[in-house]
Amino acid sequence: MLTVIETFHSIEGEGPFIGIPTFFIRLSGCNLRCTYCDTKYSYSGGDNRTVESLIEEASGYKTKFVCVTGGEPLLQKEVYPLMYKLLDKEFKVILETSGSISVDDVPADDNMIIAMDIKGPSSNMVEHNIYENIELLAEKDYLKFVIADEKDYEFAKSIIQKYPFDGEVIFQPEGGKNLKELTEKVLKERLNVRVLPQLHKFIWGDKRGV
Ligand code: SF4
Repeated sequence: MLTVIETFHSIEGEGPFIGIPTFFIRLSGCNLRCTYCDTKYSYSGGDNRTVESLIEEASGYKTKFVCVTGGEPLLQKEVYPLMYKLLDKEFKVILETSGSISVDDVPADDNMIIAMDIKGPSSNMVEHNIYENIELLAEKDYLKFVIADEKDYEFAKSIIQKYPFDGEVIFQPEGGKNLKELTEKVLKERLNVRVLPQLHKFIWGDKRGV
């Protein structure tokens, strides 16, 4: 049984699959408390759901994309059978994780995409980053930094220098919308990273469950 805050059908708001209709499963619980967290409602509560009922619901939306998010989804042990069974049903599974739990046990499968954060100084959670996780990522996965200020930007640059990664590196402005300054900086410094918004914030603002 999994404790689920909400399920919803929306478009992928960030990352390489931005704009693609996706079924979202938001699991309950988070071990972090980032200063800028916009999903505080995921810290506790939720409804008990079986893996089977979630797969059945996902199947109703005629999309091959399922995003497992939180909170921190890897805190619930039954997330692993959920991911394996989704893969068995030929879904493309995107796991959004904070980088503070080992991704060693995440299924190794071409259809399994790990979208992993590394938390910068403005989150107040830097000490929770597990940098060894970066070495466990494959080229199909992606690494995301939320950039709120100059310190976050310099921190992100230092991490991608120290831990080279073949997949895509995403810089996302804190709040998801203020792209201009960050984009200009990335271009000026010839950084090989992708600057992405949180698309759902442009469409729906801070509305929950979209
Ligand atoms: S990891 Fe995500 S859900 Fe948890 S506190 Fe940070 S932003 Fe919020």
